[in-house]
Amino acid sequence: MDFFFPDSQDQISPFFDFLSEEHPLHRIRQRDDRYAHEVLKTIPYNGILISKVIIDGMKGRTGQYSESQKERIYRVGAHRFFRTEVPSGPSKIMGDCGAFAYVDSDVPPYTIDEVISFYEGIGLDFGISMDHIVLDYLSDHRKKTVTEVDPEWVRRRELTIEIATEFFAEVKKQKCGFTPIGVAHGWDPESYKLSVEELEKIGFKRIALGGMVPLRTDDILNVLSSISETRRPKTQLHLLGVTRPKFMPQFASLGVTSFDSTSPFRQAFMDDKHNYYVKDDSYVALRVPQPDGNTMLRRRIQAGELDQKVVREAEQHCLRCLRAFDAGETTIEDALDALRSYEIIYDTKNRDRSESYERTLEASPWKSCKCGVCDAVGIEVIIFRGAERNKRRGFHNLSIFRKRLDSSLSAND
Ligand SMILES: [Zn+2]
Repeated sequence: MDFFFPDSQDQISPFFDFLSEEHPLHRIRQRDDRYAHEVLKTIPYNGILISKVIIDGMKGRTGQYSESQKERIYRVGAHRFFRTEVPSGPSKIMGDCGAFAYVDSDVPPYTIDEVISFYEGIGLDFGISMDHIVLDYLSDHRKKTVTEVDPEWVRRRELTIEIATEFFAEVKKQKCGFTPIGVAHGWDPESYKLSVEELEKIGFKRIALGGMVPLRTDDILNVLSSISETRRPKTQLHLLGVTRPKFMPQFASLGVTSFDSTSPFRQAFMDDKHNYYVKDDSYVALRVPQPDGNTMLRRRIQAGELDQKVVREAEQHCLRCLRAFDAGETTIEDALDALRSYEIIYDTKNRDRSESYERTLEASPWKSCKCGVCDAVGIEVIIFRGAERNKRRGFHNLSIFRKRLDSSLSAND
């Protein structure tokens, strides 16, 4: 089972100074900053997924890459750009168009030639045909009340197949170096099955299943079972944006050979509770927001509601206490008091996370983790504060996610 990690320019600066909160003076991002596969001791993913929309942008939306980064990835190719040559590094790079970015448009934004030039131009291993997401799904339960199929769902499914037909023919004609992947969309198991059958007929050996991000596991399994009734034995399936490590063995038995997901990484700083993964559990990260990085705090200071000096002192006291706790120089109670005193100032929703913070500090899970991040930066990894700490925690989560995935797959061997 291959895990592809979607790139969103997620790197850390290895020489970032946590005490002064500063980057080295002569930092050059492209040269110095590190990807997860360069930082972690075990490479968590088998491949990287990159979206055309992130690099090139589209009409009305600029990409995330600067002009010089864009110029560089086209000049040296994606493999050199992402430095995948580290030992046992991610060996494959897959491209797509980033269908979520244009989900509200009538039609996808690029021509087939533009898509192919992108995949070929940066030297990808796999290229996903441009698709258009069907925005709804009729589970068995909903089918009892919804009996009509929205013509828009039908149009988007058919448009995706039409584009795939042209894409496949063009890839063959131009003798492209990448393997084309068709995308199946649908609104129930039957329509997904029909899409897969049509894509197989066109000639695709690899098919990605789109629009599954919001689906319940039962629905995903229903779709996969339906597809497996007619799927050719050699057709390999990819799940776009689906993360369910526990169910991967079942998915695998139904033809899934790869998937992609950002959620282990993003939960580190987007989730309310599950910020730091351990094998069978997770912990909340310790929030110590930067007064100048936090819009709400900044506004309240500017409005005169809060005294900047008081805020700064509570924040710095928190950091000092947490570091002292990590070094065994102060008690959990002191650390919790410091966190609480600052929380009362910055949390406008009056939350009290003391109990979950106590659980995190009691367990101190970073102390026993040898992922390559935790053993390098200690308690900083579990402090919810700024990109350098939050991304490091995301990297750590990726390494634990890999362990979860491997153990789930090997338990079912
Ligand atoms: Zn770790």
